[in-house]
Amino acid sequence: MCGGDFARYGGLTTCALVHMGGQFIVLDAGTGIMKLPNEVLAQKELPLLLTHAHADHLLGLPMCAYVMVRGARLDIYGAPRDGLSPRRQVERLVSPPLWPITPDDFLTELCFHDMPESMELGAVRVRSMEGNHPGGASLLRLEAGGKCLVFATDCTFSDELRPKLAEFAHGCDLLLADGQYNDEEWPTRKTFGHSTWRMAAELARECGAKRLRVVHHDPQRTDAMLAAWDKTLQEQDPAYAFAREGETIEL
Ligand SMILES: [Zn+2]
Ligand SMILES: [Zn+2]
Repeated sequence: MCGGDFARYGGLTTCALVHMGGQFIVLDAGTGIMKLPNEVLAQKELPLLLTHAHADHLLGLPMCAYVMVRGARLDIYGAPRDGLSPRRQVERLVSPPLWPITPDDFLTELCFHDMPESMELGAVRVRSMEGNHPGGASLLRLEAGGKCLVFATDCTFSDELRPKLAEFAHGCDLLLADGQYNDEEWPTRKTFGHSTWRMAAELARECGAKRLRVVHHDPQRTDAMLAAWDKTLQEQDPAYAFAREGETIEL
């Protein structure tokens, strides 16, 4: 959602820009990717890691200025899902009749890669782990220069998954964790593949994250609702908060 009630925490869908190990890495291609700064648009090569290909994580890609940069290359990493390669997953959304052109029509060269469990992107070590989401979604851990970021969106932090996830995210400097719902909504939304913001805070405590930003808030949330929950989170730990659109966090 956008407009006056949605200005502070934002209404764009999932995208995070990481600057680590001397390079930029983009996580997911929701509508937030349309706000990539000029410094990133000027890069000749850019990696994009997709947690999964649900529309809210992909919708910004064809509208992103970086796909129309002649001479540039976008390396897209994603797990094969439903028997579809990452390229086929993207083409499902970015092709007629849902979109007028296909990725082949972009001026930027697109290179698709299967996401391995572990890889090096320059000086950045990337690890992925399968989460708990309808159709699947990857959780990501990025490390470089002694700093660590964990991206854990679109995931139910279930009792079964939590020990493995707490280990995966152990000691991270920043945890970006799914907190779409609140406690009242939870009983009717347990199977939707998301978590509550209290579950996100529990995970942060369990894994010893130095900072938490709750991401993927429900689209209907107004700034007033999120500010009230933000206050509760920060009373629990001043390093915990809901993510805000355009927020920059130094690790
Ligand atoms: Zn999803
Ligand atoms: Zn999502």
